[in-house]
Amino acid sequence: MSTFKAPKGTYDLLPPDSARFLAVREAIATPLRNAGYGYIETPGFESVELFARGVGESTDIVSKEMYSFTTKGGDQLALRPESTASVLRAVLEANLHKSGNLPVKVWYSGSQYRYERPQKGRYRHFSQVGAEAIGAEDPALDAELIILADQAYRSLGLTGHRILLNSLGDRTCRPVYRAALQEFLRGLDLDEETRRRIELNPLRVLDDKRDEVRKQLVGAPLMPDHLCEACKAYHEQVRELLTAAGVRFEDDPKLVRGLDYYTRTTFEFVHDGLGSQSAVGGGGRYDGLSEMLGGPALPSVGWALGVDRTVLALEAEGVRLELPATTSVYAVPLGDEARGVLFAAVTALREAGVATDFAFGGRGLKGAMKSANRSGARLALIAGERDLAEGKAQLKDLESGEQTEVPVAEIVPEIQRRLAAQG
Ligand code: AMP
Repeated sequence: MSTFKAPKGTYDLLPPDSARFLAVREAIATPLRNAGYGYIETPGFESVELFARGVGESTDIVSKEMYSFTTKGGDQLALRPESTASVLRAVLEANLHKSGNLPVKVWYSGSQYRYERPQKGRYRHFSQVGAEAIGAEDPALDAELIILADQAYRSLGLTGHRILLNSLGDRTCRPVYRAALQEFLRGLDLDEETRRRIELNPLRVLDDKRDEVRKQLVGAPLMPDHLCEACKAYHEQVRELLTAAGVRFEDDPKLVRGLDYYTRTTFEFVHDGLGSQSAVGGGGRYDGLSEMLGGPALPSVGWALGVDRTVLALEAEGVRLELPATTSVYAVPLGDEARGVLFAAVTALREAGVATDFAFGGRGLKGAMKSANRSGARLALIAGERDLAEGKAQLKDLESGEQTEVPVAEIVPEIQRRLAAQG
C-alpha cells in the first residue's frame, strides 16, 4: 500500500465494480438521448459568484459545503457542487436560447463536490447524471422529465423507487404562502439557527428531519392549499400527464426546494432501501433562475440523479445488471515465436470486434491459464512451438475444458463461429 489514501468522503471506482457505474450512467442517458436531449459538458469549477446566485447564498450547499479557492491570478472559484447553474450559464453564454428552437434540451454527466459530513450514500465527491430543458413553460415538459427518470430506473431493473411530487407556486402565490408559513413558524419553539432560517428560507424548515421540529409542523400551512388558479391548473396537468403515462407518484405537500427562483413543479425520487440518504434524485422547475444570472426570462425544468446512490439502490434490491462481457478470448503464447503469432492474432480478433486479452509478461502455462480463467473468457487460444511448426494453435473451451486445434490462418473466423454458436 502507498502512504497515500483517497481523501475523506471519497472513494475510488475500481474494476470490476466500476462497470456498474458506467452501466448506470448509460441507463440514465439512454432515455434522454432518445428524447432529444443533447450532451453538454461544462468545467468542473466556476466562479463562486455563479453558485452564490445560482444555488443561493442561504443554502447549506453554498454557505457550508462549497470547495472554494482563490487562484494564483486572484479569481474566486469553486468546484461545482451541482450543475444546473453551470449549464444555464453555458447555454446563455453560447446564446443557445436564441436559436429559435426552444426548449434547449441538454443532459450532462459528471462529478460534483460538496464538503458534507460523509456517511454511506453521502460523499464529498459524487457523480450525477442530469437533464435540463430550458426556455419553455409546458406541463408536458415537466412530465417528460419525470417519465424519463422513471424509465431510466426501470430499465436498470429497479422497482423500489418512489416519486414524490409537489408544486411550489409562482411569483403570485408563493409570497402570500411564504408570509403565512413564516407567521406559523414564528410561533413555534425552535432553536436559534432554525429561527434564522424562518426569515431567510422558511420553506426549508418544512424539510427539517428532527422529530422535535416535525412534531410542531403538524398543522403548518401547506403550499398546495395556497396555489393560485394558474399554478393549480398547471400542476393538475402535470399530474394528469403522469397518470396517463402510467407513472405512479405520491403527492407530498411538504416537499420543498427552498429557493426563490424554484417554481411550480418540484419532485424527488426516493428509495427506501437506502436508510437516511434515501433521495436518489431530485429536480423541478426553476423559472426565475435565468434572470438571477442576468439572462432573459427562460422558464426551465430539470433534474439530477445521483449515480452513487442509484448503484446503492441496485445493491439494496439485489439487482444484478447484465454487463457487457469484458473478455471473450484469452491468448496464451508459449515461447517467443508464439508471442509474435498470437499477438498478431489478438490484434486481428480485436479488430473483428472480439474482446480479447493476452498473457503479458512472458509467464509460464500454469500462471497464464489461471489468468485466463480469472478473466472470465470463454476460450483460451494457446500456441507453442510444436503447434506453430504445424501451422496450428489450440483452442480451449474454458467451461468444458475441451481442446481443439485450429489452423493459424483460421483463428479469427473459427473463434467468431464458436462464440456465435455459444450465443
Ligand atoms: P441535489 O443536487 O442535492 O438535488 O441532489 C440530487 C441527487 O444527487 C440526490 O438525490 C443524490 O442522489 C445525489 N447526491 C446529492 N448529494 C450527494 C452526496 N453528498 N453524495 C452522494 N450523492 C449525492
